[in-house]
Amino acid sequence: NTTHFGFKEIPTDEKVDAVAQVFHSVAAKYDIMNDLMSGGVHRLWKMHTINQSGVRAGNKVLDIAGGTGDLTLRFSRIVGSTGQVILADINDSMLKVGRDKLANKGVVGNVKFAQANAEALPFADNTFDCITIAFGLRNVTDKDAALRSMYRVLKPGGRLLVLEFSKPESECLSTIYDQYSFRLLPFMGKIIANDSESYRYLAESIRMHPDQETLKGMMDSAGFERTSYQNLTGGIVALHKGFKY
Ligand code: SAM
Repeated sequence: NTTHFGFKEIPTDEKVDAVAQVFHSVAAKYDIMNDLMSGGVHRLWKMHTINQSGVRAGNKVLDIAGGTGDLTLRFSRIVGSTGQVILADINDSMLKVGRDKLANKGVVGNVKFAQANAEALPFADNTFDCITIAFGLRNVTDKDAALRSMYRVLKPGGRLLVLEFSKPESECLSTIYDQYSFRLLPFMGKIIANDSESYRYLAESIRMHPDQETLKGMMDSAGFERTSYQNLTGGIVALHKGFKY
C-alpha cells in the first residue's frame, strides 16, 4: 500500500513498533525541531490550549503523550502546590527528556511521570479535572479505545482537549502544506537530526489522521458531550474540546 506521495503505508500491527522507533530517534532533538518546523507557532497553539483548559489552582490534570512536557510545565504553574499534573507517555526516551527538562526548569513536587499507553490508561475512574493530548492522538493505533479510556478517567464536569494536526480549510493552503510536510520536513529532519525517515513518518501520520468532523464524531461516540473544535492557522491544526457530565 502506498499513500498520496508514494510513501509506504505502515500496517497497523507494525505501527506500534514504528512509532516507538520514531520517538526514540527524535527525542533528543524534539524541542528544537518543533520550534524550527513550526517557526515557533506550536508555542501559540499550546498557549491557546492552556487558555481553553479552564484549569485552576488545585486541579488534577493529565497530559497524555506529554513528551517533553510543554503543556505539563505550564499546567504545573497554574495548579500550584495543591494540584497535580501527570505527564503520561508511552515512550521512555521522550519521558526522560521531559523529566530532565522540567527538573531544569525547577518544576518539582506537583508533577508526576507515568509510562502509559493512551489506549489503556492506568488510572482510576473519574480522577482528572482536565485531560490534554497534544500532537499525540495521531500516533495512537486504536484512537477509539484511547478516547474511551480518557472518558473513563475524566471526572464528571471535566474536559478533554485534543490538539492535533488536521485538515487545512482551503485547497490552496492544503497544497502548500503538503509540499512543506512531504518535501521540506523530511529534508529538515535529514539536515538537523540526520533522520529523514522519522520526519517522513510524521508527515504521513498527519495526512492519515481523521479530519475535524470525523474526530468530533469519534469523541461523541466515546461518550463526550458538547463536543466542538476550533481551527487554528487555517485548519493546519485543530483544537477539539469535549466534556463529561
Ligand atoms: N505533547 C508533546 C508536545 O505537544 O510537544 C509531545 C508530542 S509528540 C509529537 C507525540 C508523543 O506521543 C510522543 O512523545 C510519543 O511517545 C507519544 N505517544 C505515541 N503513542 C502513544 C500512546 N499510544 N500512548 C501514549 N503516548 C504515545
